[in-house]
Amino acid sequence: MQRRRFIQSTAGALSALAVTQALAAMARPVAGASAATPHWRADPFALGVASGEPRPDSVLVWTRLYPGPARPGHSATDAEQASHFQEKAGLGALQTTEVSYDIFEDEGLKKRVQRGVVTTHAGRGWSVHARVTGLKPGRHYWYRFRSGHAISPVGRTRTAPAPDAVVQRLRLALASCQHYEQGYYAAHAHMARDDLDLVLFVGDYIYESSNPQYRIRPHTGGVPQTLPAYRERHALYKLDADLRASHAAHPWICTWDDHEVDNDYAGDQSSKYLDPVRFLARRAAAYQAYFEHMPVMPGGPDTWGGSHQRIHQHWAWGQLADLWTLDCRQYRTAQPCRDPLKGGGRVVLNCAERDDPNRTMLGHAQEQWLTQGLADSRRHWRLLGQSTQLSSTGIDTPLGRTIYTDGWDGYSAARARLLQSVADMRQTNVVMLGGDVHQNVAAQLRVVPNDPASPVVASEFVSTSITTRGMGEGALARIRSSNPDIAHARSDERGYTRLEVTPQSATATFLTTPFPAQAGASLEVQAVYAVDTGHAGVHAP
Ligand code: FE
Ligand code: CA
Repeated sequence: MQRRRFIQSTAGALSALAVTQALAAMARPVAGASAATPHWRADPFALGVASGEPRPDSVLVWTRLYPGPARPGHSATDAEQASHFQEKAGLGALQTTEVSYDIFEDEGLKKRVQRGVVTTHAGRGWSVHARVTGLKPGRHYWYRFRSGHAISPVGRTRTAPAPDAVVQRLRLALASCQHYEQGYYAAHAHMARDDLDLVLFVGDYIYESSNPQYRIRPHTGGVPQTLPAYRERHALYKLDADLRASHAAHPWICTWDDHEVDNDYAGDQSSKYLDPVRFLARRAAAYQAYFEHMPVMPGGPDTWGGSHQRIHQHWAWGQLADLWTLDCRQYRTAQPCRDPLKGGGRVVLNCAERDDPNRTMLGHAQEQWLTQGLADSRRHWRLLGQSTQLSSTGIDTPLGRTIYTDGWDGYSAARARLLQSVADMRQTNVVMLGGDVHQNVAAQLRVVPNDPASPVVASEFVSTSITTRGMGEGALARIRSSNPDIAHARSDERGYTRLEVTPQSATATFLTTPFPAQAGASLEVQAVYAVDTGHAGVHAP
């Protein structure tokens, strides 16, 4: 009660940063307190289980103790959710508890190979991340958690092959953009049944905002600004059974885009010119809720709750493929030619600022890290998972060429640097894998977009959204006719992209259903495009 009054009285007076810090301090367990055993009066595994970060000898397994929403179908305050948790768990906000996990070699759960314990508490949203090491490369494992007498659903995961293993196949699902309000997760139900090694999710896992025009099932709560509000949003998404099934079936490798925090944010710049100090406090809350709900570890335990978090990583799949997951939001320069009254991205004509070489999409350190990684790469394929579309989507008009400033077109010098470094290395097997634009795209990548005199140096596949509506056919037709490098672009359907990589080729199968995605919809093949080894560029097989 006191706590609730404190939050209410300070929320208006203090900055978002102070409120976030106060909440974190209050949720910290009492020093030296021994872990308490919960007595569950509801299923604490309502958000399911997940795994990620597959390495040859380790995976990360995840769950979060969450005995359902305090007010199902409605928004609940942090205090209501905390007292609901206390009532269902018999655990107080200042206590800690231990969650154990078991790892099995077989689906029948007969051969247990590991057992461990993770301590969690309210300051982490009762989330559980366990990095399981000492595993064998290139094989499935099954896992489950236990809290008190409650046992979680079983998840299946997979380790990466040994770094030097000769591997004939990597099969992944490329996915992004799953606005809860705009459709059902038929794509995830399909993914859960698909024969995949992993899911590569490249951003817009949650949406902070609403578009009432396309609302099929409403969010609870308004636009989140605080840690409790972002937690509620993430929990709502994970209450979807199809999303939980997709997590339980495969390990996920993830990066984020803007909607995990705020539409069109760029570094410390919000799309509404919010004071950067206040925006960074909001970003810290959004990042923390993200990590609490995802099979992703923040940069390190000391950085938990901070506004700066590393998510970009390098992954390897035997000798077959290097994969880099990139962060296109945290380090980028603000969009060029911004509207002085409304920040973020927009469509502009003849924006010269975009060509400024000081502008960056990845930030200097990440760009250097990636360039060095590409130069050192000796595996057969180089896959770059990133949140948006690299190929140009500008439109030629009688007055000049328009660009959309939030995409790579707003960072044209940075794009040219990246593609020039690929060209200089003479590495042909480079494939960009993106999302964000709510359309399936297969495209050629040149240092100078659409210029036949500039050779094709890499290839691009962008996957359509899981649910979020795409642009209209008229606009997309103009983009296609202004960009001969785009071999395929369709924005009318939802789904995911199955990418099969072999020593001979990288083949994208666009699997889709019409908008809006209906519960139980079956996905059909919209198109298939391939890249052959040794030849940059996409073609219909
Ligand atoms: Fe999106
Ligand atoms: Ca986005």
